[in-house]
Amino acid sequence: MKKTKSRNIFLNCVLHYCPLFFLETGLVWVLAGAIVEGNRLIGTAVDTLFAGGAIEYGVFFTTLLLLTAAGFAAAFLKSVSASLFGIKSQTLYKKLVAEKLYRLEFRYFDDNGSAAVINKMNSDIAEADALLGENLSFICDEAVEVLTYAVFVAQTSRKLLFIMCLLYPLVLWMSERVVRKLTSLKKVFRQKSDKITEIAQDCMSGILVLRSFGAEQYFGGKLSSAADELVENEEKRTRISNNAILVRRILGWLPNILCAVYAYVLVCRGDISLGGLLTFILILGRFVDAFVGLPFDLVEAREHWVCIRRVEELLHGKDEESGSYRPQMPVHNSKTAIAFEQVSFHYTPQTPVLKNLSFTIPAGSTVAFVGGSGEGKSTIFRILCGFYRPCEGVYLLYDRDFNVWDTEAAREQIALVSQNVFLFPDTIRANVAYADTGAGEEEIIQACRNAGIHDFIMNLPDQYDTQVGERGILLSGGERQRISIARAFLKNAPILLMDEPTSAVDLETEKIIQEAMERLAEGRTCVIIAHRLSTVQHADTIFVLKDGAIAESGTHETLMRQNGIYTSMYGREEF
Ligand code: ADP
Repeated sequence: MKKTKSRNIFLNCVLHYCPLFFLETGLVWVLAGAIVEGNRLIGTAVDTLFAGGAIEYGVFFTTLLLLTAAGFAAAFLKSVSASLFGIKSQTLYKKLVAEKLYRLEFRYFDDNGSAAVINKMNSDIAEADALLGENLSFICDEAVEVLTYAVFVAQTSRKLLFIMCLLYPLVLWMSERVVRKLTSLKKVFRQKSDKITEIAQDCMSGILVLRSFGAEQYFGGKLSSAADELVENEEKRTRISNNAILVRRILGWLPNILCAVYAYVLVCRGDISLGGLLTFILILGRFVDAFVGLPFDLVEAREHWVCIRRVEELLHGKDEESGSYRPQMPVHNSKTAIAFEQVSFHYTPQTPVLKNLSFTIPAGSTVAFVGGSGEGKSTIFRILCGFYRPCEGVYLLYDRDFNVWDTEAAREQIALVSQNVFLFPDTIRANVAYADTGAGEEEIIQACRNAGIHDFIMNLPDQYDTQVGERGILLSGGERQRISIARAFLKNAPILLMDEPTSAVDLETEKIIQEAMERLAEGRTCVIIAHRLSTVQHADTIFVLKDGAIAESGTHETLMRQNGIYTSMYGREEF
């Protein structure tokens, strides 16, 4: 999409397809013009007949036929261009939102919660669809019709137009009252929908915990009170909306009656002819519909706008930072794989997590971070992957500031194997192949062999085509973990981040996974988060984190000799 000045991406989408929109506008004008001229022709014919004159029926019917044909053609083309405009602009807007999701910085999801993001992707986008697909088109039709018919009414009698205009402030005032109430209720509706999605999502992802702790009533209660609040809000909104429809109808009758009566007076006074009255009456209904409908459709647009602003807020969320450096050659020859220089980090300024943290990880070495819960081990991993940037200090990846790296290229250097394995609801093959979309069947199978999962897969009825279910629910924890290790094999990244991958499996499986991990670690730089010290005794360096800084570091033996935090942690651990 061409860059336009508007910061509002929705408007940019509208502008992008404005030729179609203008075409529609032009066609509505042709249609309204054909209606006016057709009715005027009938009115003139009536006047001629009443005056005792003769009309040329051939010319009369041919002209009427041509005007009708022009009207039909314009109406057909108008609906085609309106549909095209709607479909194209809706698709573009959705595409931009989807693309933005991939670029958004990680913090956005922390701050907003996934429920709000899902609602924006579903319901709020549906409101944008409604505005682009119907509402804008109605507004455009009505605006053009009002202008075209107003010119006709002014030509018939300026006083008539004046009477209609007198009623307009009343229409505007009523619609404004409605809009204010409806938009604030719409905002509340969206917030409450977010809440319900959030609770439902929590229930679904934690269904096992929820059932095992018998917490159904607690969550059920939360869900039903949120639903009650939503229903209450919706009742109010529907009531106002229905009232608005009633008001719209009443407001439609008023000009119809007043203008018809006044037009009759004008005929009696001889100011307009009988034919003029007939034409006026025929046009009046259409004029009033558009005249009264316009402010109410604008009200609806403002209601949609509330939701579009929520999508715009997502679209204007901060993008993940990225530099431009992409190494031309493998960077494995560099002596230092990772270094932190005086890195400080916080999620919220009140609670610092890392304080002036410095360490160096030589390429090809194995290091481990240990420490109590909440000391910042996972945060270090998030920074290493570039999900968060240091608030102060520098993170160097292969001797270059991470900020100059193209984020995608930097992530190509890193494979993450975590204790919380996430599998997509797809086949085993697809779940392994995500690591390298260009990989062939042989490479995928070799990766699975290395991860010690190939034989298991071959014994499944659908083998590599087996569906793993949502989040891999159809597989055991150990099987999921080995698939994630196969993914890391396939990625073949020089740096391996391991977040205690064996912490959630039984002893037998732990052994198999441990062996696979050892094979995976060969020749790579390994960074391990350890919750159990028994798994990291072989590390070249162990960093002990305390209060956001490194309190101790060294090999297992040197740390044991220091008789400090590590020794006491080791003493507390059961083997
Ligand atoms: P560890 O992995 O050592 O258990 P973490 O790195 O997960 O510790 O967390 C370090 C601290 O940062 C903890 O106090 C935790 O509550 C806090 N924290 C972690 N993630 C977030 C977040 N997204 N927003 C705010 N605080 C967070």
